[in-house]
Amino acid sequence: MLDRLKEIEERALAQLKDSRRKEEVLRIKGSLLGKEGELTRIIRSIKDLPREKRAEVGREINLTKERIEEAIKAALETIEKEELKRRLKEAPVDITLPGRRLPLGSIHPVTQIIDEIVDIFHGLGFSVEGGPEVEEDYYNFEALNMPKDHPARDMQDTFYLEGDRLLRTHTSPVQIRVMERETPPLKVIAPGKAYRRDSDVSHTPMFHQVEGFMVDKGVSFSHLKGVLTTFLHAFFSPQTPVRFRPSFFPFTEPSAEVDIGCLICSGKGCRVCKGSGWLEVMGAGMIHPAVFRAVGYDPEEVTGFAFGMGVERLAMLRFQINDIRLFFENDIRFLSQF
Ligand SMILES: [Zn+2]
Repeated sequence: MLDRLKEIEERALAQLKDSRRKEEVLRIKGSLLGKEGELTRIIRSIKDLPREKRAEVGREINLTKERIEEAIKAALETIEKEELKRRLKEAPVDITLPGRRLPLGSIHPVTQIIDEIVDIFHGLGFSVEGGPEVEEDYYNFEALNMPKDHPARDMQDTFYLEGDRLLRTHTSPVQIRVMERETPPLKVIAPGKAYRRDSDVSHTPMFHQVEGFMVDKGVSFSHLKGVLTTFLHAFFSPQTPVRFRPSFFPFTEPSAEVDIGCLICSGKGCRVCKGSGWLEVMGAGMIHPAVFRAVGYDPEEVTGFAFGMGVERLAMLRFQINDIRLFFENDIRFLSQF
C-alpha cells in the first residue's frame, strides 16, 4: 500500500511538472482526488486494513494528499504567470501613453478682452462702474445732449420698450448715472452690453462696449491723448502708431476718432484697412458742457474727457477674426481655440 502511494505521488509530481495548460492540471487533479480518483479510492479502502495498520497508513495518505495538493496549486500559479506574460507580449500595453483628458472650458474671447482692458485702466487709476441695460430715454439720449428731435438719434437703431424705456444703445448712460451720484475728481470705466437693430459681419444686435471718462479741474485734450495712447500701446504694442482724427459726437466737443496703424499691413494698405493703412478703434472727446449741466456740474469749474470702444472690434483685431457673429454662435470648435 505504501509503495503504491509513493508510486502515485512520483507519477503525479512528474505529470504536473510537464503540464503547460490549466485543463491538464485539472484533469490530473480529478484523476487523483475526484470522486473516483486513485487517491480517493485508497482513502476509502483504509477501513479494509487490519486495525493496527490503519493509523500509520492513514497518516501517510494524508501527507501524500497534502503534497499533491500543494504541487497542483504551484502548477496552476506557474501556468497563470506564464499566461499573463504571453498576453502582455501579444498585445503590449503602452504605459507611456498619456491618459484621457477631460475637455476644459476656456474664457470667452470677449470676456478675455474686457478683462485685459479693465486691467490696463486699473493700472492708470480708473475704477469700474456698471449700469442698467434697460435704460430710460433720458440717460441714453437726453442727458447726453440728444434731445427728442436730435438727428443723431437716428444714427442709433434703437430697440424701444414700453413707456420711456429702451435697451441702451451704448454704455455712455453710465457716465450720467455716475456723475449724478458723485463729485469730481472721477476716473471711471464702464464695460457692458449695448443693443442696436443691426446685424451683419461686423454688427450684432447685442455687443459690448467699454466706456470711460475722467473729470477734474483742468483736464485737457492732452490728458485724453496721453491716457488713450498709453492704453493702446499697452493693449496692442508700444510700437503701434496712434492718430486722432476730428469727428462729431453730440456728447463731446471737440470730438475725435482714434485710429491705430493697420495691424495686418503695417500701414501699407490692405483689404482690412480698405487701403488707408489705419484702423478705427474708438471714439473720444472732451465732455460737452451741456452734459455737465445735465448732471449739475459747472462746466466753468470742471472739464473732462470721455471715450468708448467696441470690445468685439478689438477682439476681432487681436485674434484676426473676420465675422463678429462667431462670438455669439457658441460653436465649441471656435470657442475652444481661446
Ligand atoms: Zn491694412
